[in-house]
Amino acid sequence: MQESKPHVVIIGAGHAGGTLAALLRQYEFTGPITLIGEEPIPPYHRPPLSKAWLKGEADAESLALKPLEFYAENNIDLWLNARVARVDPVGKKVSFLNGNILAYDILVIATGSRAIYPPIPRADSRGIMLLRTAADAEQLKATIGAGKRLVIVGGGYIGLEVAASVRGMDAEVVILEREERILKRVANPILAKFFQSYHEARGVTFELGCHVASFGSENGQVTGVWLGDGRGLPCDAVVIGAGIHPNEDIAKEAGLECDHGILVDLEARTSDPNIFAIGDVSRRPMPIYDCMFRMESVPNALEQAKQAAAAITGRQAPMGEVPWQWSDQYDLKMQIAGYPFEADSLVVRGDPQAAKFALFHLKGDQVQAVEAINSPPEFMMGRQLIGNRKAVDRIRLADPSISMKEVVAGRDA
Ligand code: FAD
Repeated sequence: MQESKPHVVIIGAGHAGGTLAALLRQYEFTGPITLIGEEPIPPYHRPPLSKAWLKGEADAESLALKPLEFYAENNIDLWLNARVARVDPVGKKVSFLNGNILAYDILVIATGSRAIYPPIPRADSRGIMLLRTAADAEQLKATIGAGKRLVIVGGGYIGLEVAASVRGMDAEVVILEREERILKRVANPILAKFFQSYHEARGVTFELGCHVASFGSENGQVTGVWLGDGRGLPCDAVVIGAGIHPNEDIAKEAGLECDHGILVDLEARTSDPNIFAIGDVSRRPMPIYDCMFRMESVPNALEQAKQAAAAITGRQAPMGEVPWQWSDQYDLKMQIAGYPFEADSLVVRGDPQAAKFALFHLKGDQVQAVEAINSPPEFMMGRQLIGNRKAVDRIRLADPSISMKEVVAGRDA
């Protein structure tokens, strides 16, 4: 008798879910795969939404992870406009908002995250937007242009990327940040100061330590932002970039262990052995730092897709990676490797004034993280140093006349 093949159901047709479906076929998994997404389009790249695509340098087709035909050709059942409302881990089935039910053998939750909508009066006015989906980005692109005034609520990387893209269209941009500096949650003060100055030199205005009291609107259309100190800033549009929440609700209701992210192991398996969770929605172990962490990046989505695909097909798990991500603003290419957990010192290599430098975060004499601006060798070799936990000489590391190769090798040329 022929053994039946397990049905893999993936909830979330985003970067992680779409990659997993493709990897399963690449790893010669021959069972049925159903990829379910609530958005109307197949899996796509989100990073360009605040960068190349917003600036008009990339078209809609180039956003797609794979062409639409790929899914049928690879026998991947792609369900779009379909939202899973509930997971029943005992009956091994998922139910949809419309009442339909689908059985699974292996379930993968890849539901990503959603942008936070702060509870500010009149935040539902037209022209106030989040930026998470292609539809959000379409709306922003249609609203903003030369001479328009955009207010961005939140000085994080997405807000800064939108500001850079929109300045290129000759629109005015004001960034509002409630902390006393931008990038407070994700970057150190040197980097924050560098980015702020770079943006200011290109016409962006910052209001730091400010509180948004309410939005002004006329006939339902946003006309301005009222700050806590009573000042009003007129505008044509607002982008809210105030952080994201993991879409873990269905997992919590199903009784899976969660802690601001679905908890998984190194195979991306949740507390239920038949259910995996990958991408932004999961909180995973990071062996090089010996901790659990939730990451919001494409490389993380790809890594966990590999972990889950390997576990489902019985392959060897991928080697542990050094996490990384990037941000593009104007002519700046920033690459970040690692996280500065327990870092106790900082080495600056290069010249922030020249927009070519790297910040190395060290714990003792080991590199924990590197943030590199227009400095690919610092990023690549820094990533290597983080991975191999090799001690580094901080005097040599700080000296750009000594190549990164020599710094890593620990000898003079
Ligand atoms: P997503 O890609 O968000 O996919 C999740 C999908 O699941 C979504 O389509 C969602 O609609 C769907 N879904 C959710 N719940 C359900 C449900 N119940 N039923 C059915 N479907 C559901 N990362 C970088 O590394 N570098 C960058 O420069 C960068 N720039 C970014 C710029 C922007 C504007 C944005 C929004 C993100 C950016 N990111 C960047 C982050 C990166 O895109 C995410 O980390 C990545 O998309 C995560 O993949 P994911 O599959 O976990 O989630």
